[in-house]
Amino acid sequence: MPLRKLFLGIGANLDDPAATLADAVGSLARIPGWHVDQISPLYRTTPVGLLDQPDFMNAALALSVELPDDPAAAALEVLVRCKELERLFGRVASVRNGPRRLDLDIIALDDLAVIQPRPAGVDLDANGEETAVVRPLVVPHPAAHERLFVLAPLADIAPGLHAPGWRGSAAQLRDARLTVEGEGAAIRIGAWDVAAARWV
Ligand code: ADP
Ligand code: MG
Repeated sequence: MPLRKLFLGIGANLDDPAATLADAVGSLARIPGWHVDQISPLYRTTPVGLLDQPDFMNAALALSVELPDDPAAAALEVLVRCKELERLFGRVASVRNGPRRLDLDIIALDDLAVIQPRPAGVDLDANGEETAVVRPLVVPHPAAHERLFVLAPLADIAPGLHAPGWRGSAAQLRDARLTVEGEGAAIRIGAWDVAAARWV
């Protein structure tokens, strides 16, 4: 199985988000065949979409992961692992862009471009009503290039990353979003401390 380069976005805004994210880094590192190569600084970010909720903490990770040759199988395996972790960390079905204990996004996986249909699930709409959703797995993450909370930490660890479909590098896209969202939308508040295994 080839070693693939994976970029993950991680975020949380409930309970103790910084501790949750640090624990999540540890959990990812303990998955057999997964190696965490880089851990970005921690950012405090303004919620997108649904504004009336606590600020988020966000970071980005670079990993090397043993995954199947087949692109769709590789991406699905990453998604299943991420969903498992989200569940373990107590994320409950919630409104899109709503508060959550742990959110893991597959920003990019090597130079793969994957659109993989998935079984329909149930989500809650803005009124809290259950609604059927079909969210295909899309890699690179279709919104990553337009979210400062993803791009700011990502550009710290992989400024030159140019995922399929992007109009520029991570650093160029970050700079473009900075002019739209403003410096205050993503504020660097900590650096990863290897010995402490958390951001300080
Ligand atoms: P967002 O995708 O805007 O972060 P959510 O985290 O609420 O919003 O949505 C997660 C859902 O999106 C997952 O259930 C998953 O099936 C689907 N999904 C599609 N592409 C991706 C991706 N690249 N990374 C993570 N989840 C994805
Ligand atoms: Mg997500």
